[in-house]
Amino acid sequence: MTDDPSASSPLAGTTLPVGRLQHRFGNTDLGFDAWIWRSDQPGPALVINGATHGDEYEGPTLLRQWVETWQPVDLCGTVVIVPVLNEAAFAAKQRCHPIDGENLARAFPGAPEGAPTSRLAHLFETQVLAHATHYVDLHSGGQALELHPWVGYIVGGGADIDATQRAMAACFDSFWCWAGPYLPGRTLSAAFHRKVAAIYTECRGAGEVLPADLADLDQGLQNLLIELSCVAGAQPPLAVQSFHQSTDAEETHLQAHHPAPHAGTFESIVALRDVVEAGATLGIVRPILDQPPTPIFAETSGTVVLRRHECVVQPGDALFVIVPL
Ligand SMILES: [Zn+2]
Repeated sequence: MTDDPSASSPLAGTTLPVGRLQHRFGNTDLGFDAWIWRSDQPGPALVINGATHGDEYEGPTLLRQWVETWQPVDLCGTVVIVPVLNEAAFAAKQRCHPIDGENLARAFPGAPEGAPTSRLAHLFETQVLAHATHYVDLHSGGQALELHPWVGYIVGGGADIDATQRAMAACFDSFWCWAGPYLPGRTLSAAFHRKVAAIYTECRGAGEVLPADLADLDQGLQNLLIELSCVAGAQPPLAVQSFHQSTDAEETHLQAHHPAPHAGTFESIVALRDVVEAGATLGIVRPILDQPPTPIFAETSGTVVLRRHECVVQPGDALFVIVPL
């Protein structure tokens, strides 16, 4: 007997059948469906999930296509795909869990008892991440934000892991790359502690799923499978990414930048990918009542990589993020 909860995962042993298997982790009330491809050849254990946040649709859409159609003939190792990790938030069309209101991307490593979001984090961390060698978390701007898509990772886990993560991120060569310091609570934080090489992607969002965005994400995953030798093949030439490394954790905290000064309606003056100077006017927040509008000025110089998509804002809502690319 063991007290290690990860030992109860079907990924823990060698009893999984070779081929494709659908498995539900947890139960009907709290859990998630995974599709597992297992080879009789040794190789990495790659885990990919979407919908850590429930209103982000590019990852779930693409991963659903993968679980229906992907038939690798030369697989090495194990690939685990979870199209929708946060089922309750996804069903509610919300970023966070509808019962406890908690953000799954702040809840790791979670706990076996308590609120649903914490238990979900614990379930994924112990049953799936604990058995991964490589991990990808697919995010997007969701319904509230529009993003200049990027791929990112946490630096500082060791030179080998940093290099592996940089190579994983380079596979998503339609995206720019953002490396940053450790922040607690994320899926990648849990991977960091388990020394699992991990990256995340941020697709465009704005409440939509565009075919071009899906194609970019799909190509990135195809490249990654070759990079990690999960499948055989020659890596196509990869485009050189724009790259930025943050040393200040607050810089990578998206919700901390250009906060709405009060409630109102929001108008952006700049577009995604625009290059702006510090102090430039980025947009305006207009109070609903009879008060003057408030201009929003750029905190720093750089490229606009995040712009609020929702028109109605509350005090503190992040309106823009600017990164020196
Ligand atoms: Zn997200």
